Amino acid sequence: MKSYRQELYFEVPTRRAFINITPQVEACLRSSGIQEGLVLVNAMHITASVFINDDESGLHHDYDQWLERLAPHAPVSQYRHNVGEDNADAHMKRQIMGREVVVAVTAGKLDFGTWEQIFYGEFDGRRKKRVLVKIIGE
Ligand code: ZN
Repeated sequence: MKSYRQELYFEVPTRRAFINITPQVEACLRSSGIQEGLVLVNAMHITASVFINDDESGLHHDYDQWLERLAPHAPVSQYRHNVGEDNADAHMKRQIMGREVVVAVTAGKLDFGTWEQIFYGEFDGRRKKRVLVKIIGE
């Protein structure tokens, strides 16, 4: 069995953002040379997510509004976590949107369902953060 590990870096200029990272994951898969196996992609921070859904800007706007209703950023004083920091909402948004995805690798390609793409969800940006890509197989 082969294994491959790579870290991707993101530094978004805004507090929140959704970024389609499918091309970077596909590049990792090509570098790995693996044809049959599994790819794991996970955020390495507790205020960011990796998830799979549609690359559609209206949907991303809707996610942002929905997450703000569930866990509003302000007022920051509403959260006990926000003693010396202001990102309690980002922890909660990450919890809802998830830590990682696993995608099957078939014939050297990501074996997606219809319209599936991989996204990095940032909820406390403006600093450098990492995503792990781990691929195992043959
Ligand atoms: Zn925090």
